[in-house]
Amino acid sequence: MTVSDELYQQVILDHNRSPRNMRALANATHQAQGINPLCGDEYTVYLAVDAGGIIREVTYEGHGCAISKASASMMSQALAGKTIAEAHGLFDAFHALVLGKAEAATPPCELGKLKVFSGVWRYPARVKCAALSWHAMKSALDGQGKTSTEDAL
Ligand code: ZN
Repeated sequence: MTVSDELYQQVILDHNRSPRNMRALANATHQAQGINPLCGDEYTVYLAVDAGGIIREVTYEGHGCAISKASASMMSQALAGKTIAEAHGLFDAFHALVLGKAEAATPPCELGKLKVFSGVWRYPARVKCAALSWHAMKSALDGQGKTSTEDAL
């Protein structure tokens, strides 16, 4: 087991045990449901975007496997305070990362802690778990109410 595998497991376990921001958001301006039928992961992602286009808060509720939950938890932390454009940029960087295409894409330097997901591409079934909440977030910002990993990937 490599150091990054070990770190990955620790981070996933930690966020799975105590997921951050896991609740509905009463003042949400955007929301969308994401489902991953292959694993049974289902989350609704809520965003509160202010008049200046800054994402003030990101929350989610639902259920799913450890990876999907940890990914939603970390996304909620990563996006708070970002602009919508930055959120789209992070989506692209994260998506490239979990597909193992990070080198070809824009430098994922902004990803920070999210880089623990860098080994996920080796487990294709898990890529959709990791990407689910991000697809839901993007659908919410795009004004679509629902997304499925079977459409999106
Ligand atoms: Zn899953």
